Amino acid sequence: MTREADREALALLRRVTRRNPAARLVVTGCLATRDPGLIREAAPAATIVGGEDKAGLPALFGCAPAPADALPSVAGRSRAFLKIQDGCNMDCAYCTIPSVRPKLSSVPPEELLARARSLAAAGVPEIVLCGIRLGRYLRREPGKPRLDLAGLAARILEIPGDFRVRLSSLEVTDATDRLLDLMASSGGKLCPHLHLPLQSGSDATLKRMRRWYSAEGYRRRVDSYRARVPKGALFADVIAGFPGESEAEHAESLRFAEELRFDGLHVFRHSPRPGTEAADWRTPPARLVAARAREWRALDGERRAAHAARAVGEERIVAPALDGREGVTEDFLTAVLSRPAGPGLTRVRAAAADGAKVLASSF
Ligand code: SF4
Repeated sequence: MTREADREALALLRRVTRRNPAARLVVTGCLATRDPGLIREAAPAATIVGGEDKAGLPALFGCAPAPADALPSVAGRSRAFLKIQDGCNMDCAYCTIPSVRPKLSSVPPEELLARARSLAAAGVPEIVLCGIRLGRYLRREPGKPRLDLAGLAARILEIPGDFRVRLSSLEVTDATDRLLDLMASSGGKLCPHLHLPLQSGSDATLKRMRRWYSAEGYRRRVDSYRARVPKGALFADVIAGFPGESEAEHAESLRFAEELRFDGLHVFRHSPRPGTEAADWRTPPARLVAARAREWRALDGERRAAHAARAVGEERIVAPALDGREGVTEDFLTAVLSRPAGPGLTRVRAAAADGAKVLASSF
């Protein structure tokens, strides 16, 4: 969560408390775990449930936990998020997650396979595997082979049905050749799309951020991806204005991203998070951070438009959203459909690009 998100969450709690003083309010999540005092101030009557105790939420409402394969209403949904992992024990200087969810945990495969089977049977065309540190999914059970992300994804891909699987954000060092080979050999069932947080393309900034890879290490993993999945899409997160970022570091970072030809960037302006190491470090002046974020966003706009333009004249497979008018392609383009598609994966041809989107007609 960003500082902005914390502020919005607290404002919402105050509003709900003011408008519905009698309502029963249960608050959980990172902020509630990290700073319950802030929650108590905003909503004095709220019950606060720390991240470690979330499993007890159903009991709090007098309910039994849902069975492993139980689904929320997914009819007609284009994408379902399957959380396979939680927690992170890394040490990034700007991040609060390790202080609130320091333990790595992975959901048992039987549970995940049961859920994935139910989603496929319900007609959900795309299952997105997600986790705080997705690539650290690992189950070691007595008498069973060790199962990592590639192994789990391979087992989900074996489930019969007209659906595909996408990986959500993955740390670059977790994009192993085994995982990339699986993507390459899956015939599109594991979407050719990676979102690899970069944060900075300057080694000096990466070091201050306490990221554990170098820009060249990142480049080598990207080269490996592109050699195996030549038409795969590549997206990244970047942080503008991290404390101590000089003009030269910013320029180096931007140049690195230009060289890597991302298909899109998620740009974050650095905002100090209380309780993190970087919270007390001096951030570049706000106008400088804003100007750097603008440069990043301009690059993002260019790269997304180039990604869309490259698709024109080609076929894609779209997971349509609820109204069937738009959907997302395997390489993470938004496709606007010339006529509404029914539910399920739909083959389309991209006729034209419109900024970061493609205009497409189904066959
Ligand atoms: S930024 Fe990601 S990898 Fe780093 S500590 Fe936070 S959750 Fe972990």
